[in-house]
Amino acid sequence: MSDELAHIVRGVRRALELEEASGIGELFAASAERARRAPPSPAEPSPSGSPSVAALAPTKSEVDLFGNPVPKASAEVEVETPQAPPSLSGLAPAGIAGRAEIRQASLPVLQQLAKEINACRQCGLCETRTNAVPGVGSAASGIVFVGEAPGAEEDRRGEPFVGRAGELLTKIIQAMDDAHLVPGVSLSRESVYICNVLKCRPPENRNPLPHEIELCSPYLERQLAALQPRIICCLGKFAAELLVGAKGTIGGLRGKVYRYRGAKLIVTYHPAACLRNPAYKRPVWEDMQLLAREYLTD
Ligand code: URA
Repeated sequence: MSDELAHIVRGVRRALELEEASGIGELFAASAERARRAPPSPAEPSPSGSPSVAALAPTKSEVDLFGNPVPKASAEVEVETPQAPPSLSGLAPAGIAGRAEIRQASLPVLQQLAKEINACRQCGLCETRTNAVPGVGSAASGIVFVGEAPGAEEDRRGEPFVGRAGELLTKIIQAMDDAHLVPGVSLSRESVYICNVLKCRPPENRNPLPHEIELCSPYLERQLAALQPRIICCLGKFAAELLVGAKGTIGGLRGKVYRYRGAKLIVTYHPAACLRNPAYKRPVWEDMQLLAREYLTD
């Protein structure tokens, strides 16, 4: 290896170590803690007795994800947190009470799908997988996260998002819960559903191929039909392009609310992209706030 190449390799290694040391998950957790501690503003009751839409409107935070004060005039996009407990009874496709029924009804369907996925031999990925990775969680909250495909750790354990990117996703969900982003709804890996476009790991974590997506996506469609989500969050380009039905970059697709069958749908950066580029963690947190706002309104 030439001296110059060795120097570059050392630099990249050092950057990765620094990124690891910067504790991206802790930043999400710190942001959640600040949001949780923020004094709630009094809800303005609507004539029906439930909080009005104005009362549900997010209030502005004065610190960014990094804990730095945000000068109002120069803030690019302000960090927002819904602060008034909303009425959860009227939400489509069911209020929070109705979610228990959806969860119950989804269990045998999800179980049947997992059986089919574990036995699937429709594409070449079945030759190289250790385990298929159907999905984890439940329909309890009505929130579904859809990633790209299992990685090495997921393939080993048969569970989605359990490697480094998965740890970050778990921290994001925990931070949303700590910040009471969706008041009245407990958020955890058990109460949301987490799955992928592809149920088997592509060798060397290469990108999913079009024919693999075509053959595998009916499983996702059937999972979503059983889960009846209130909101779907696409993590990265492959989930976004499949479920939005349009090509684009995450930068171009995020920040908007789409519809997938009866559900709302948003797009954000994949947690692995956040690990590679910490600048994405702020937009991801903003997207989680968008998710919460959209969850809380019809
Ligand atoms: N990346 C994904 O898209 N899915 C996983 O399950 C893990 C990493």
